[in-house]
Amino acid sequence: MKAYFIWSDNDYQWGDFAHGETASKAKAMFWKKWSYEVEEYIYLRAKRVPELDNKPFTADNIIAATDLEDWNSNPTCSCEICLDRVIPF
Ligand SMILES: [Zn+2]
Repeated sequence: MKAYFIWSDNDYQWGDFAHGETASKAKAMFWKKWSYEVEEYIYLRAKRVPELDNKPFTADNIIAATDLEDWNSNPTCSCEICLDRVIPF
């Protein structure tokens, strides 16, 4: 499963990771959780993060694969890869 970073073009400061076979499926995953935060689905943008393909979006995986120093967002993605992980929330 391909990993994407999804964000709203109206707000560059915020986004989250989602898996999907295509960018639009990853956007749909993001939209399922965050539709109340984003004005319009059409503003969503997706960027591939191949380092996180087939890996659950744990803080450890995200920090290892990106230049982020910390990550503590509640999980957005509910694909089978991410659901298999232990969620400490
Ligand atoms: Zn996932």
